[in-house]
Amino acid sequence: MRLSDVECECGALYRCAESETLDGEPGNLHCANCGRIVEAWQTRSKRVYRCVLTPDRSYPVVAPPPAP
Ligand SMILES: [Zn+2]
Repeated sequence: MRLSDVECECGALYRCAESETLDGEPGNLHCANCGRIVEAWQTRSKRVYRCVLTPDRSYPVVAPPPAP
């Protein structure tokens, strides 16, 4: 499982969890805030996105812990 952050042009932030073993399909992520396509992928890996920050509910930036 790989984790990465994706930021939309509107400022919304998404956390992406990409599995290297589960089957998925190509697709794209639509921003729940502004409707733009934030990210598109052609790989068949399984991806799950979660909105962690919306522009109207900003929190201070917290540094992620070091990877194990
Ligand atoms: Zn957006």
